[in-house]
Amino acid sequence: MPPDSLSFDMEADIVVVGFGGAGSAAAITARRHGASVIVLEKQAANRHTPSTRMSGGLVMGVNDAALASTYLDRCAGGMIPAELSDVWARRAVGVIDWLHSVDPALNLSRIGGAEHPELPGSAGIDVYQPGGARQRLDPNGKAGTFLFAGLARGVLASGAQVVWEAPAHRLIRSASGAQVIGVEARTPGGTLRVRARKGVVLTCGGFLHDETMKRNFLRAYPMYFYGNPGNTGDGVRMAQEVGADLWHMNQMIGRAIGNFRLEDGSDLSFIIFINPPGYVITDRYGQRFADESSQANLLHGFYYSLLEYDPDKGIYPRNPCYWFFDETRRLAGPLTLPFVGASAVGLYDWSADNSREIERGWIYRGATIAEAAAAAGIDDPTAAQASVDAYNQACDSGTPDPMGRPAATMVPVRTGPFYCVKLYPGGSNTTGGPRRNARAEVLNTYGEPIPGLYAAGELGQASGMQYPADGSNLSEAFCFGQIAVESALGSGSR
Ligand SMILES: Cc1cc2nc3c(=O)[nH]c(=O)nc-3n(C[C@H](O)[C@H](O)[C@H](O)COP(=O)(O)OP(=O)(O)OC[C@H]3O[C@@H](n4cnc5c(N)ncnc54)[C@H](O)[C@@H]3O)c2cc1C
Repeated sequence: MPPDSLSFDMEADIVVVGFGGAGSAAAITARRHGASVIVLEKQAANRHTPSTRMSGGLVMGVNDAALASTYLDRCAGGMIPAELSDVWARRAVGVIDWLHSVDPALNLSRIGGAEHPELPGSAGIDVYQPGGARQRLDPNGKAGTFLFAGLARGVLASGAQVVWEAPAHRLIRSASGAQVIGVEARTPGGTLRVRARKGVVLTCGGFLHDETMKRNFLRAYPMYFYGNPGNTGDGVRMAQEVGADLWHMNQMIGRAIGNFRLEDGSDLSFIIFINPPGYVITDRYGQRFADESSQANLLHGFYYSLLEYDPDKGIYPRNPCYWFFDETRRLAGPLTLPFVGASAVGLYDWSADNSREIERGWIYRGATIAEAAAAAGIDDPTAAQASVDAYNQACDSGTPDPMGRPAATMVPVRTGPFYCVKLYPGGSNTTGGPRRNARAEVLNTYGEPIPGLYAAGELGQASGMQYPADGSNLSEAFCFGQIAVESALGSGSR
């Protein structure tokens, strides 16, 4: 019996795989076009931690499509066809209004602009935050959970049907194999086969937590990500099985991050906030190698400097790297941002003064920098001490920093005890995945659309070398989630 005549358990016009930001945009758009929708979500409703919910809730908008198109293309660094950047720019002109149409209470307001103001077209970019004009780093402002709550209400109110604990496992193809006609999921009740009359939209996130994919695709190893533990590259595997091409698998939204072991042997990753100033980062030999203020300001370029590989020794000397700070920083607040990531969704409660994490052995302590360095396992603790001493002297004398660090950030690390935390290259998300075109159609290895298959969000996101602006991930997820469904329904407008 050909697969397309096998029985299905459920059916809808559009089947969305993954209930995050991109999946919400796809589901709401489908319902607005009068299409029926089933959303398959891997996680249980009461343990649902999509990265959209863990996020800072920042969304990139566009005030001038032509400028933004140029800018996004420059940031892509040749990895994304210009047509996709242009479609994204044009769609993002309306993305903030679209969010307000889903939930006016989201109340997004402009808080900034492009991450690379020096690049052409940057003036076309705006960054918005939900919840009114709250300060960006307000420790109580869980903007991501607030944003996702609004989206989730919108999805449920639209009449889309969400099936929880239904991890999609395989795509179902027509008898000829040419077309994707449904999805097979594994639920606690057994296999669930869902027919998609108009299209399947994959919005199930990147491969943040698949060690094999990370080792094979990313630029260094290990790499860690502080996004949804459920984003394990399932969409990559499903798309590959039906012949999808892959693109920019080596790309990610990166920074230096913390990765720590829990009692049960599992690990958890965190965004690490090294500000306020009074920080030095060294390699395993105790030597500084970059201007740390880029990491302190939560920009996305610092991680590139962690990727260096020493072929003679067969090691990555900056993976991990070592962040040194003193008692003043320890008491200034948690080393992570408690309103995003694992802390925001209840996966971990980081102590306000970092004492619990010192007890856990995540933060190494010493009476001197050398002692803290030795506790962290650095190769040359004396060199680390010398690096911090030299840095402190430069702070005192006002000598320009050899790494080019801005003078205002040159605050000494002098008040003991001293601390050290290992930081790894990683970030919020990977961006590689199935290759898609400007209609969000997934392409095969010959560049042809695979009929019935679409994708959006961080699974094969349309961004390349440089992160365009805070909020770009969510902007892309919302814009291409909408576009994917419009393409599937044949409404065509972009
Ligand atoms: C701490 C943090 C802060 C961030 N801050 C920002 C920010 O301020 N602005 C910004 O733009 N970006 C930010 N990001 C990145 C951004 O949140 C993500 O890139 C974006 O939310 C991705 O949306 P998505 O819909 O593609 O994936 P997600 O929101 O992660 O949704 C994917 C969903 O698919 C489900 N799933 C996975 N596999 C399957 C399967 N096999 N079957 C069914 N379901 C499956 C997952 O459980 C999940 O619910 C941040 C990320 C983190 C972690």
